[in-house]
Amino acid sequence: MLLGSGMRTQLTSYFARLFAGDMSAFGSPATDDAMAGHIRAEQMSLVLGYSVGIMLANACNAIVLAIALWHSPDWKLALIWAVVVAVAAIAFGLQSHASRRITKPQFVSRRAMHRLVRNAFVLGAAWGIVPVAFFADASAGGQLVITCLCSGMLAGGALAFATIPIAAIAFTAPIFVGIAICLSRDGDPAYVLVAILVVVYGSVLLRAVFVNSLSFARRVMRQVEAERTVRQDPLTLLPNRFAFNETLDAALKRLALSGEEFAVLLLDLDRFKEINDKFGHPAGDEFLVQVASRLQRCTRAAEHVARIGGDEFALVMANLARPEDALEIAERFVAAFAEPFPIEGREILGATSVGIVLAPRDGNTPLDVMKNADTALYRAKKAGPGTVCFFEEADDKASRDRKALQSDLAGAIARNELFLVFQPFLDLGENRITGFEALLRWQHPSRGLVPPSEFIPVAEETGLIHEIGEWVIRRACATLADWPEEIRVAVNFSAAQFHNTGILQSIVQALADAKVSPSRLEIEITESMLLSKYGSAASILNALLQLGVTVALDDFGTGFSSLTYLRKLPFSRIKIDQSFIRDMLVQPDCAAIVKSVISLARDLNIDVVAEGVETADQLEYLRQISCDEVQGYLISRPVSADAVLKLLDTKKLRAIFAA
Ligand code: C2E
Ligand code: MG
Ligand code: MG
Repeated sequence: MLLGSGMRTQLTSYFARLFAGDMSAFGSPATDDAMAGHIRAEQMSLVLGYSVGIMLANACNAIVLAIALWHSPDWKLALIWAVVVAVAAIAFGLQSHASRRITKPQFVSRRAMHRLVRNAFVLGAAWGIVPVAFFADASAGGQLVITCLCSGMLAGGALAFATIPIAAIAFTAPIFVGIAICLSRDGDPAYVLVAILVVVYGSVLLRAVFVNSLSFARRVMRQVEAERTVRQDPLTLLPNRFAFNETLDAALKRLALSGEEFAVLLLDLDRFKEINDKFGHPAGDEFLVQVASRLQRCTRAAEHVARIGGDEFALVMANLARPEDALEIAERFVAAFAEPFPIEGREILGATSVGIVLAPRDGNTPLDVMKNADTALYRAKKAGPGTVCFFEEADDKASRDRKALQSDLAGAIARNELFLVFQPFLDLGENRITGFEALLRWQHPSRGLVPPSEFIPVAEETGLIHEIGEWVIRRACATLADWPEEIRVAVNFSAAQFHNTGILQSIVQALADAKVSPSRLEIEITESMLLSKYGSAASILNALLQLGVTVALDDFGTGFSSLTYLRKLPFSRIKIDQSFIRDMLVQPDCAAIVKSVISLARDLNIDVVAEGVETADQLEYLRQISCDEVQGYLISRPVSADAVLKLLDTKKLRAIFAA
């Protein structure tokens, strides 16, 4: 009968699954290839675990049989049979013992399982020959031995292959057939009873094998599912940090065993927090999901990008032939962000920076590899979105330096190493000092005076900025209490400080403790803070304004220079960045900017401070274009708190006012 082609493929697939030990051929739920391979690995590992014992038993049994048939007419044949089986069993046992790996494989191919089934069949067939060839002419004792050996082999085989029904069948079926032939040849009615016994015996055995193997397969599947969950990031379905660490460990193991080099690529998304804050968390999640799928498409087939943190991804590139291969993948990652991401009807742009380490060149422990990848990524991020950086030795030094600075800074307040200096604002209309900007200094015991441009970023990265910022505001308010009523103090704030809503309470408390009016305190913020990176910034600033605290926009012109920011908050002052003041007398465009900012601010009823005034010409020009206030080395460098009161009535200053 001809089978339809559909039927034929179904049958082929059924037999392929059957001989691969796939439990779905026996009614277990269908599995994917990876799962089936994993189940085979577990089945195989159990069988290989017994293999030496099984083969020794085979060899011993063969020898016992040869001895039992010593006086039978078939003794020569029996001896040859026994030698062949014993030698083959020992050889096979040794070979399978050697093939057991140190680490259990996670996947075993169908072909390997086919081999196992075939070997089981060959061994079973060898034992199936025994009752056919030797039973009839054996003595009563020999027959007893043959009966015992055949039953023993049936039970032993079923036990050894208890998790692989097809192998159990392949091994026991020839023995059953041999017994059947042997029994059918003799007319003794007692043999009918023996045949019934063997059938009952066989069906109980096989039934036990089926039940056991099905529950074994289900147990493995549950275990694999559980392990998958532990290793998978639920949002992007990529491997998570745990899985990444395992991959890294495995790569390091291979490096140690065979010298196989590898690379680790560490990625950090460049605008993720902003996307989250601006468009909300569901959009942020969707963004991550789309990023994950784009990244995964850039890698080699067998390698998986892992999501190891909020917006951090990583990839282990095994068996690296050339560093350029890692660079190529990193560049593909960067290019994957070229197109915007369609999210909730919007087109959102993203970018990533990538740090690359090569093992063993840049490290051969998980800690070193990841620390150096982090360092390379740090440099890439600093260079701007979409940058790829390899780790370099110099990075290591810079990173150690940064770490040392971080740990020193942690204790700086307690050790009294921080202090404030104050730089005056000069009102050009009234020719008087109207206030001072508090500028933070760190007197490091060995490094000397560390500038804020070096340690403020470190404080921001580590979160120390909150503690430091609070100290600054308390110190500035306390100092302000000693100054005349009409003098204000301006305090710089980092964007990160507005991440902590407790800052409002700290400011209120500092003002209350120092018993100074909130109107004498000014907060200096930069444009970057208004980019809504911190959702709470606007509400905190508004609450401060309600209290009577004023807010100045610092370094105006250096950030995004969008005048729309001026509408976001009722700023009392704009501070034009010193770069414009420095160049305004030599570059006409700088002068134009300064002039137009001043006239715009006047229209908006906002005061303007020119920062970084160093020469009398600059001061004169600013006077001409009606700048409200100036600040800079010409008027005074930042001075200590003690020097402030002296400065307030210096003759030198009066001379400048009068100029
Ligand atoms: P900023 O707020 O723009 O401060 C002005 C900076 O310009 C100060 O540098 C000041 O010493 C310097 N400067 C003033 N007049 C002149 C001049 O005529 N010529 C030149 N070349 N420079 C002048 P400093 O003290 O090194 O502070 C740098 C930055 O560090 C500040 O820029 C501010 O952003 C930050 N910073 C300082 N103290 C604090 C603080 O307590 N908290 C926070 N978050 N940041 C601070
Ligand atoms: Mg400032
Ligand atoms: Mg400034």
